[in-house]
Amino acid sequence: MTSLPGPGRTATAAAVSATTALCALLCSLTPAAGAAMVPTAAPAASSGPAPTTCTVAIDPGHNGAVTNTFDPVTGVLMADYPNGAEDADALDVSRTLADRLGAAGIRAVLLKDATTDDVTYRQRVDRARDAGAVVGVSVHTTPGADGSAIFPQRTGGHRTGTGADGTERTVTFDNPGLAAESQRFSAVVAASRSLAEGRQVPVKDNSFDARPGLWAGNLPVISLIADTPWVYSEFGSAAGGGALGISAAEKARYADGLAAGVIAGVATAPQCSPVTGSAGSVGSIG
Ligand SMILES: [Zn+2]
Repeated sequence: MTSLPGPGRTATAAAVSATTALCALLCSLTPAAGAAMVPTAAPAASSGPAPTTCTVAIDPGHNGAVTNTFDPVTGVLMADYPNGAEDADALDVSRTLADRLGAAGIRAVLLKDATTDDVTYRQRVDRARDAGAVVGVSVHTTPGADGSAIFPQRTGGHRTGTGADGTERTVTFDNPGLAAESQRFSAVVAASRSLAEGRQVPVKDNSFDARPGLWAGNLPVISLIADTPWVYSEFGSAAGGGALGISAAEKARYADGLAAGVIAGVATAPQCSPVTGSAGSVGSIG
């Protein structure tokens, strides 16, 4: 087993840069600076919530082509593939989610624009990081009514397999800060999805053991290598799911639950909350 630089090291660096980017964004939104930068913005004295300035990265599941490359940063195998009707279903739900977020004043970035796009996990997580996303959301569907679940990042989450040099190696997630925020978002999204779907959507670990072509372990590769808190979402369908596809009604329930949960998660994120953002002003008045 070869010891690789864990994703925690790169994730920590990225978290700092993401925080810096967010700080730059939020610091520009003090009343005076905001007024100077955006003359047409609503006056500071207007009622209602402050505008949200946060970004969410949405990852429509699966790739337009079979791909099996090694992540240049961690060395993990990035195996992905088209998966029948799931490709278009995930993109539909992702677009609906992006629209709902936009209507709530949250910027959404799609990490894949068409079902045929060929985008590696590394390219996706780098796009999310570069966009300054406060969370990444992977949208998938799967066969089985009991397949709905949310998979968060966890310290100690890992994948093991044969690396580019032919030796077995393990890549382990070891960034507690990202894991905590991922788990917070996951709990909120699972709760809202449970309401929208009328069934309990659990937060749990995945398993990739004994799946040919994939490294074994318990964390999706995109979550393992992300420098951003990540929520990996599966929607289970009794009649279809995955390559078999889901119905329009199922897509609507899936999008409803995801949108409500992500909006709630963003609203309560330390970097995004109007309450948190106004605390300094209240303090200065008092
Ligand atoms: Zn999938």
